[in-house]
Amino acid sequence: VTQARDAPAGAVDPLQRLTKLLARLPGIGDKSAMRLALAILRTDAPYALALAEAIGSIHASVRECSVCCDLSADPVCPRCQDPRRDDTTVCVVAQPQDRIAFDRAAAYRGRYHVLHGVLDPLAGIGPNALRIEALLRRLEPREGGPSPVREVIVATSPNVEGDATALYLARLLLPLGLSVTRIASGVAVGGELEYADTTTLTRALHDRRPL
Ligand SMILES: [Zn+2]
Repeated sequence: VTQARDAPAGAVDPLQRLTKLLARLPGIGDKSAMRLALAILRTDAPYALALAEAIGSIHASVRECSVCCDLSADPVCPRCQDPRRDDTTVCVVAQPQDRIAFDRAAAYRGRYHVLHGVLDPLAGIGPNALRIEALLRRLEPREGGPSPVREVIVATSPNVEGDATALYLARLLLPLGLSVTRIASGVAVGGELEYADTTTLTRALHDRRPL
């Protein structure tokens, strides 16, 4: 860590400290980090404090929904609590931002399940690193009857890892007598779901096919 010329000995320049912290975020290079740090410095102090508080409390205030594993402020998220959603269909996505993309498209009225990743053996990410056990629990019979789930739609991105994850889930779920489908690759091959526009997502969901 280098010191600013006029900083006291041993102290880190505050602007440089903030810049370095911001530069650790994805998609933020050194120049963007410096620009953000300067922008925060130029805002009023209450904003800077509110930003710091929001960042500082995020770990304590956001958890995983005990049903679908999506991020939630409550033990059970609003999507799982919504009685108007269709219980017979579960759409499996890799990340919370993919769920947000589907919700924005508003083409889907069933339930969701968030894996928090995709299978990636080269990166050491196996089935145990994903929320697959929580998914299986949702498919088990419950008191008073069988699970209402009839179809699991695998909506991972159409790339190598997304395809491997879909095949793994199909092998796991088909023997349970469920219909397992995969969204159509209307999303550009190798593309990321979260960046797909709503028309593309709606079509990809509509044109899903059995695995
Ligand atoms: Zn949930």
